[in-house]
Amino acid sequence: MRILQLFLNFIIIYHLINTQMILKNWIFYIINLTLLLSGCAYLSYSTYPEPPTYHHSKDLKTVTFNLPYNNQLSGERIDSILTTLPGRLFYTNYFEEISDDSLRAELSRIMKQELTGQQINIYTLAKVSSTKTSTILTFSEDSLTLKKIADELMFLYGDPARESLTSLSPNGANITIEELKNLNLLLPCAGVTLPKRANLLPNAPRPYRSGIHRGIDFPASYGSEVRSVLDGIVIQATHGYREISPELRESFLIKARKIGRTPHDVYNHITLGRSITIDHGMYLIPGKRIISVYSHLSQIDDHIQAGTAVVQGEIIGLSGNSGTRDGSIGSLNNAHLHFELIIQDKRGESYLGQGLEYEELYNLLTGIFHN
Ligand SMILES: [Zn+2]
Repeated sequence: MRILQLFLNFIIIYHLINTQMILKNWIFYIINLTLLLSGCAYLSYSTYPEPPTYHHSKDLKTVTFNLPYNNQLSGERIDSILTTLPGRLFYTNYFEEISDDSLRAELSRIMKQELTGQQINIYTLAKVSSTKTSTILTFSEDSLTLKKIADELMFLYGDPARESLTSLSPNGANITIEELKNLNLLLPCAGVTLPKRANLLPNAPRPYRSGIHRGIDFPASYGSEVRSVLDGIVIQATHGYREISPELRESFLIKARKIGRTPHDVYNHITLGRSITIDHGMYLIPGKRIISVYSHLSQIDDHIQAGTAVVQGEIIGLSGNSGTRDGSIGSLNNAHLHFELIIQDKRGESYLGQGLEYEELYNLLTGIFHN
């Protein structure tokens, strides 16, 4: 139906132009009204045969529309012009560092959804100017707000292989939720509570990379003290970790994406960054071995070496963003503590919360972590 209307509009405008009657608005309005009454709301927009062209400034601060005709502009008309912005393409500017086109488009879509859902106004009309043939509208764009939202999305989804893609073993450990409930873990950062968002917890789906998150991302700001959640013995502490260039890092991630999962070497030596692994023995859950992993650290305490005995609550290092893209470019953004608890037995190994539904998982975690 809309195509038919557009076609009719086109015929009318073509006719008007050809007969030099464009200024005789009464004909136009009669036809317009007739078509409007017949349900053709689109015609009110058809004063412009084509959507206005727009230009997005490189610094992402303004958008300029060039309308084909000099015209009186109502507030409604200005709003409708803004709706012509193709958000999916538009917001991708904020995800340029993502090499996967489909992921970029998906994040842009989520971003537009968030803006609409929260009714955030991003554009303000900053300037109207006109020439004989065109009207130019300049909107300033709230790039700070957009960047903030984009950064949050990048943090959650942006780096396809930042976290593990792999289940640790096909079978997993033979462990019940009842056994896990007996664990008594200290929160790994003082004053940082367990995150609620499913995306920061184990099992968070990462559909674009066919993967799952096997740890908990505690929102610890850069340099927060990190402490051992249990007594244990240090297995490894990568004091000597050095960031690789973002390009080399990305090249490893591309390979990971190509094979459909993050290989252990890339996971352990690139994406975890500076990390500590601690063995907590086999007495907490009889017959099962438990280890904990603390990653993306900015610093590891000097005394933390393989073989060091640590007690629950002992400070082992400082949080950071090593191993992340931000870490590799020397930025302090997106620091957090990625923490894992791994349970091993004869059958295999599982991460804490593996396979649990969100409600059950969150209840389990709130039950076993304490301050
Ligand atoms: Zn994580």
